[in-house]
Amino acid sequence: MMCSCPKCDSNIDIDLARISEAGQYTACPVCRSKFWAQRESFINRAFKKEGQIYCVNCDAELGLSHNCPQCSTLMPDYCLVQKTKPPRRKVEGSSFSLDFSLTSGGGRSSSQSSSTSGPVNKSVLIKAVIALVIVAVAVAASLYIKKSREENSYVTNYVRSLYGITSGVDKNLDVLSKMKNSVGYALNTQDIEAINNAKAEIDNRMSLLQKVPEKYLVQNEQIVALYAVYGKLYTLTLSPSALTSLDKAMVLESDFKKYALSLKSSLTPELASELKKTSVKYKNLGIFIN
Ligand SMILES: [Zn+2]
Ligand SMILES: [Zn+2]
Repeated sequence: MMCSCPKCDSNIDIDLARISEAGQYTACPVCRSKFWAQRESFINRAFKKEGQIYCVNCDAELGLSHNCPQCSTLMPDYCLVQKTKPPRRKVEGSSFSLDFSLTSGGGRSSSQSSSTSGPVNKSVLIKAVIALVIVAVAVAASLYIKKSREENSYVTNYVRSLYGITSGVDKNLDVLSKMKNSVGYALNTQDIEAINNAKAEIDNRMSLLQKVPEKYLVQNEQIVALYAVYGKLYTLTLSPSALTSLDKAMVLESDFKKYALSLKSSLTPELASELKKTSVKYKNLGIFIN
């Protein structure tokens, strides 16, 4: 297993198979000084470490993550490599202390020693309970992380969609006002292509919002309302009667502004901050922020 020597920081190779659960001092082949290496059960993760810990399945450095970043095992057993022997593992406030370092190995050693005498059984039971609590906390934490990841990506896609919709509306209103202001103005194939491309892009972005986190149900309704206004404006722009439907376009424009205001008033802090960041580049998003 490649790791860095806790004394001299050299990259050294230590034999994982020779590291025991009891732990031992090993000499660094580079600086010759001795450091402590020990195999521990995942249950000891919560205890303070001086040095690095490495996944026993794949040797990857584990750092603070509960999942091994390399083999993605949830809370794997690990090897601890540090300057000196760690203090005995004690549970504060307990009437008796638990020496995890002697019988580490989690569930496996629990089943091995389950037939032994009373105090051991008690400590095995307590270890099992602690293991369960740690697993429950880890599961809750990973659910929380998953949820906030989904919310973050929803926020990002939301702002992108909003930018698309707003740009599409602006584009269509621009075309419609050209039609109004210059007699004989007609859409050429390039205009039509541009309008259709924008629609495809916006549809695409809106499709990323289909999975709505619970926190954003209201905000989702609002962007869907804006999207619907955009859809109507799009159809109107491409219709042969567009020239005679300018009053309709004005109604749609005022609908859009109305929905934009209500969206603006119910932004979550996360959406507001993402909008603010994005509006530096995309000025038309300014209508949604203060
Ligand atoms: Zn060294
Ligand atoms: Zn691993």
